[in-house]
Amino acid sequence: MPATDWFSRERVGRDITRIWEPHVHAYFRSNIFHVRGRDVDLIIDAGMGMVPLRPQLRLQDTKPVVAVATHVHVDHVGGLNEFETRAGHREEAAFFADMADEHTLAHLFRAQPDAVGRSPNAAWSPRAFQIKPAALTRIVAEGDRIETGDRSLRVLHLPGHSPGSIGLLDEKNGDFFAGDAIYRGRLIDDLPGSDVQSYRKTMRRLLHIEFSRAYCGHGEPIDQNELRSIASAYLEGTN
Ligand SMILES: [Zn+2]
Ligand SMILES: [Zn+2]
Repeated sequence: MPATDWFSRERVGRDITRIWEPHVHAYFRSNIFHVRGRDVDLIIDAGMGMVPLRPQLRLQDTKPVVAVATHVHVDHVGGLNEFETRAGHREEAAFFADMADEHTLAHLFRAQPDAVGRSPNAAWSPRAFQIKPAALTRIVAEGDRIETGDRSLRVLHLPGHSPGSIGLLDEKNGDFFAGDAIYRGRLIDDLPGSDVQSYRKTMRRLLHIEFSRAYCGHGEPIDQNELRSIASAYLEGTN
């Protein structure tokens, strides 16, 4: 299978493309967002890393690229090493340099039956799957901003799913990149590093964030009403 068939993509905004890996098991099939900025392109999350991501992005040679990891889990950081500038939250910063299983949870992927529907190439084996180290070059925290020239995205620290989960909020354009803080489907709060009380706080916070569209770590974009009903349901279902 040619590498170009490994990723699917759709334009989800004027300058935003959603990219995903359809042959990866649904539980690990995450989103990569390419935001084409005036001066800088952003890659928000980087997929599984089984097939090189960067050549698929049609990047301009002269424009800098900043890759942002919403958190250190296996399904979001596999291709991070392909980018020179790599940002992630302080709480997980130490984990990117070695990408140990205990933080990326790559062992859960290796143990997943039918981890992929089709192998990315003939030599690929789930048992040999590993995440390549990708030490952060920029450590971010709540309130920091990531600029593209025509967008300014505010870092929101949204722990619960993982300790250093972040979202990026572009208040001016109403775009919210949510990572695994929230998405359509069952929210995962029982992984090593997950914390239900932190997650509940994050949900209470998300109820008050204003935006038009949320681009989630998994699945399709959602609007503010849907996000608020997911957050409310989580708060009702936990204590
Ligand atoms: Zn995750
Ligand atoms: Zn995920």
